[in-house]
Amino acid sequence: TAVSIRRRSDEGDSVSAAPEPSFPAATILGYPRIGPRRELKRALESYWEGATTAEELRATGRRLREASWRRLAALGLEGPPSNTFSLYDQVLDTAVLLGAVPERYRRAGGPEEVYFAMARGADGLAPLRMTKWFDTNYHYIVPEIGPDTAFVADPAKPVGEFREALALGLRTRPVLIGPITFLLLAEAAPDAPAGFAPFDRLADVLGAYEDVLRALAAEGAEWVQLDEPALVADRTPEELAATAAAYDRLGTLPGRPALFVASYFGDLGPALPVLARTPVEAIGVDLVRGGVSGLAALAGKTAVAGVVSGRDVWRTDPERALPLLAAVRKHAARVAVSTSCSLLHVPYDLDAETGLDPALRERLAFADQKVAEVVELARRLAGYDGPPYQAPPAPVETAAPPAGAGRSPYPVRAAAQAAHLRLPPLPTTTIGSFPQTEELRAARAAVAAGTLPVEEYDERVRAEIERVIRLQERLGLDVLVHGEPERNDMVQYFAEHLDGFAVTRHGWVQSYGSRCTRPPILYGDVRRPAPITVRWARYAASLTDRPVKGMLTGPVTIVAWSFVRDDLPLRDVVFQVADAIREEVRDLEAAGVPIIQVDEPALREMMPLRREGRDAYLAWAVAAYRRATSGAGDRTQIHTHLCYSDADQILDAIDGLDADVTSIESARSHGRILGEPALRDFPRGIGPGVYDIHSPRVPDEAEVEKALRAALEVVPPDRLWVNPDCGLKTRTYPQVEASLANIVAAARRLRAAL
Ligand code: GLN
Ligand code: ZN
Repeated sequence: TAVSIRRRSDEGDSVSAAPEPSFPAATILGYPRIGPRRELKRALESYWEGATTAEELRATGRRLREASWRRLAALGLEGPPSNTFSLYDQVLDTAVLLGAVPERYRRAGGPEEVYFAMARGADGLAPLRMTKWFDTNYHYIVPEIGPDTAFVADPAKPVGEFREALALGLRTRPVLIGPITFLLLAEAAPDAPAGFAPFDRLADVLGAYEDVLRALAAEGAEWVQLDEPALVADRTPEELAATAAAYDRLGTLPGRPALFVASYFGDLGPALPVLARTPVEAIGVDLVRGGVSGLAALAGKTAVAGVVSGRDVWRTDPERALPLLAAVRKHAARVAVSTSCSLLHVPYDLDAETGLDPALRERLAFADQKVAEVVELARRLAGYDGPPYQAPPAPVETAAPPAGAGRSPYPVRAAAQAAHLRLPPLPTTTIGSFPQTEELRAARAAVAAGTLPVEEYDERVRAEIERVIRLQERLGLDVLVHGEPERNDMVQYFAEHLDGFAVTRHGWVQSYGSRCTRPPILYGDVRRPAPITVRWARYAASLTDRPVKGMLTGPVTIVAWSFVRDDLPLRDVVFQVADAIREEVRDLEAAGVPIIQVDEPALREMMPLRREGRDAYLAWAVAAYRRATSGAGDRTQIHTHLCYSDADQILDAIDGLDADVTSIESARSHGRILGEPALRDFPRGIGPGVYDIHSPRVPDEAEVEKALRAALEVVPPDRLWVNPDCGLKTRTYPQVEASLANIVAAARRLRAAL
């Protein structure tokens, strides 16, 4: 076997006299699971369609896990993680593991039906809320915990995966979401009394964790990894005290496996000494995002040093990583080289990308290359005797670029727009995309393969736009969209038309459930060589008398959903993109497009996890948006859109965007945003979504009417817009037609009653 670190636990250790098992010298915190060719996506979707059985789905899962473990072993990784696979989401898996399944889902059927009902809804059953995983574009399912949730451990999944790997000759390290993070990410059950917080149930949930740890130890698991990324955000003294108590308790569990508490996406800060005082054997620190100060607290522990970034696709510079590792080695009892977080957030394998410019390729590393990097760094660290890393002085902040000349105050704009657009009260619209048909996807692939002439493809896009326009006219929507049929993705499409970006062929990264995106690689200065969307917007407008919205992606979102160069401050990169979008806005306006929507669903996602730095971030992010949109005249109505990111927490910043109309997810989060006091005072048009587009469920008219009535309690009728939560791209035409018909009918009924 390769290098591994071994020690005997301290003499007289009252907790466990057993020797601490060896921890691999190189490791990763997690690995992608959707499959190198998105095999899991296909298996899930055919299972959901009823074309395959649950047993076939499970078999695909087993094959993918086996392939991953074999791949990791071939790359030289010892003791790989397990339980990093998921059929939908690891937070949902944790809820099931702990028995935290809300009562209403239990009648959905067998285990798969219950699981997918929570994830995606079922007949008459709305799914659980979904939101973004820390500052990533991965979405998790939000567990619901009440005062009576009965935590009963069901370790079948981690135990089953551990056994599978053992059968292949691999002793894995099962990965669980830790109790602190699990409860902090959960929300109170709808019927919980006011003031109840899931975190109040910490003592109870620990009992279930103990059962899981015992079950894994009984299987032969030597190490268990507990992920606690919530500890890199600001935590109250009470939460830190509870963290100490929780790990003291798990740490004194007789016969337990060795515990590795992993943190990622930032610096543990004050949580590091708290964890270090507990009996856990290993602590993981993110040295890509976090600093090296405070590492002295690691004395006596195994430090799992995340020096290979799991959040970007750049190669690791060993000249930087080795001194960092040496700095950790100075303090900790042992050092293992690791990725900064799970590799879930990067594509599988750079070798699949044969079309990239060789000069760029040389700078890149995807998941498999990063695995090779940790293995190689561990090898080099053993013989490294260079100086440890010293933090450079903090860079001097430069002033933010200007937001651009302002538009007139809102009342002036609103009057100009009302006269120009002549919309009814409670105007109906959609967020932009309509279902992407298989034919169009195939046609796009054929163009890329050179088997379909571009003119022929353009013709099909035009036909699709016409179909979408006619459909919306027939349904009676007030503000139409062209449906975005020409776009593979709202970010990749713009990346393909801007200088400074490269796109991949197979670089898929899971976004939620079966959905993946291919984040573009922003490697150079961003410029717009030519107008991007104008011809499609113009064509759509030519088909109808109703107003058609132009549709753009905002600068923050384009950057957030790309892998971004790290040699410029993020803010400067965002402003380069803002300037490109500003030119596009101006060209759309000049082409006569009366409404322009600039989506910014990632605004909240990029916000620093700690309070410090948030105001500065929001100030420049909002300024970048305004720079992108403020070139429009008063008569042009600017819309924006946000979703699936707890946007209710940044309503002030959303207000700062100064868009004339904001459409925002609400249905999927069960109308939570309507309870925000700031929504009551929102001074411009707002459309809280009335329909959850992530679920195949069709909302009936009464349900939409109820959502609208709830919205009218807080938003005056002259400012309320009627729209779904998000774009309709992931739905089918029959679902969309039925849903939109109900939305229009509900809006009309309420309008008549105004
Ligand atoms: N305009 C985009 C669409 O409708 C917005 C998608 C999003 O917010 N994620 O698809
Ligand atoms: Zn959206």
